Amino acid sequence: MYESLALLIDGQFIAEGRATIAVENPATGTELARLPVATTEDLDRAVAAASRAFPAWRDTSAFERGQVLRRAAQIIRERADAIATTLTLEQGKPLAEARGEVLVSADIFDWAAEEARRVYGRIVPGRVPGVRQMVVHEAVGVAALFTPWNFPALTPARKLAAALAAGCTTILKAAEETPGTAVAFARALVEAGAPAGTVNLVFGDPAAISAHLIAQTAVRKVSFTGSTPVGKHLLRLCADGVKRTTMELGGNAPVIVTASADLDAAVAASAASKFRNAGQVCISPSRFFVHESLYPRFVAGMTAAAQDVRVGDGLSEGVTMGPLASARRVTAMEEAVADAVARGAKLECGGQRIGNRGHFFAPTVISGVPADATLLTCETFGPIAPMTSFTDLSDVIARGNSVEAGLAAYAFSQDRAEIAALMKGIEAGIVGINGFAVSTPETPFGGVKESGHGQEGGAEGLEAYLNVKFISES
Ligand code: NAD
Repeated sequence: MYESLALLIDGQFIAEGRATIAVENPATGTELARLPVATTEDLDRAVAAASRAFPAWRDTSAFERGQVLRRAAQIIRERADAIATTLTLEQGKPLAEARGEVLVSADIFDWAAEEARRVYGRIVPGRVPGVRQMVVHEAVGVAALFTPWNFPALTPARKLAAALAAGCTTILKAAEETPGTAVAFARALVEAGAPAGTVNLVFGDPAAISAHLIAQTAVRKVSFTGSTPVGKHLLRLCADGVKRTTMELGGNAPVIVTASADLDAAVAASAASKFRNAGQVCISPSRFFVHESLYPRFVAGMTAAAQDVRVGDGLSEGVTMGPLASARRVTAMEEAVADAVARGAKLECGGQRIGNRGHFFAPTVISGVPADATLLTCETFGPIAPMTSFTDLSDVIARGNSVEAGLAAYAFSQDRAEIAALMKGIEAGIVGINGFAVSTPETPFGGVKESGHGQEGGAEGLEAYLNVKFISES
């Protein structure tokens, strides 16, 4: 049922003769498989293979690169059930959510395949007769890609699809907690015809691997999705070699519900979004600011919705929320709840782990959370909905903007003037008005402030892997 784990270096899957680490099922705490880890020589071979493969892949027509990506998308769709089972086993989310993630990942490969053919340059009129000025785009080179455990399919797909479509070759270090999905994607790409060296996959100690890869001159681009502290660390490492970077870092999304909002719609959408993937989503709604006229009913509605969530093993029928990814996430939830309660907040429901097997935490609603509580100042990254009320719109926009994160933000309102003020005033790379559907293959995804820089998805997704060259011909 679970993917057979391996490294991929220079077109060869390697499972033997390496040290291994355990991969755990977060629903049971039991070992799923042993993950082979890359040696330093493996990393060097991956860099050499990616460097060797780069000129030919860059010079392969965008049409042909797209065909490889399309075939990979098709293979992923054909294997969606098996890959989704692997994903749920290693990460915990309900099988339906895992399947949806796998299918959207296939769509991302298709989108990038199409977008590769639309990497246009432009001619800029010269100031002097006879001068031709051209702007062209060229693949950056070897890209080192680092992806986290919360979306084991989506995050590798976004990076691999865009990099390969642009003509870059890749070394992916996917999360050691959730390696099976990345291995399944690597197999799909190889079977689809990705030439040896264009896709390499390594695992091991994240800090050691990132330091080693980023130090290589041949690595020209680094794309990371994960926490802000790790992103800052990688940016410092990248500074030495002035590497191109894309940083998709932590969020701390506010949800502003104004007096004019459709309350029932806001509650239903907020609850569905908050508890998706047990809140382990960088664009998850994290801080609820509700107008005082709706606040008691909003808190009651969210509490009822949280109590309706069916928590369990993601493979079980009817389960709507799985476990947290690891024991350390459960500890983080317990600490955040204790901090808020100690500062005077009221626990409406949940607030504690469930059972003593796996890493389950109850869907939680906390009201009256003071501004200095960890739940509001730091990213929760879990199934906790902290509630506070407000009276004045400009004041609440300022409160929403008061954190250093600026990834996603949401607002519910039926008033045009309020919506205009929210769209303009919110400091975030992604804004959802009256809904949470803000991540699609076709649209740009990325943050501002300490949530990082650069986009994935949309036309912008490919730009991250392209250099601009200006040519003036006299
Ligand atoms: P963490 O910071 O230890 O790890 C986050 C991810 O970064 C993991 O996948 C890890 O393998 C990787 N990582 C860690 N150190 C690295 C290094 N030196 N080089 C390269 N990769 C490295 O945190 P965690 O306990 O796994 O998760 C906690 C926090 O991480 C969450 O609270 C959340 O803020 C953040 N996170 C964000 C995202 C996202 O989608 N932006 C995803 C996962 C985790």
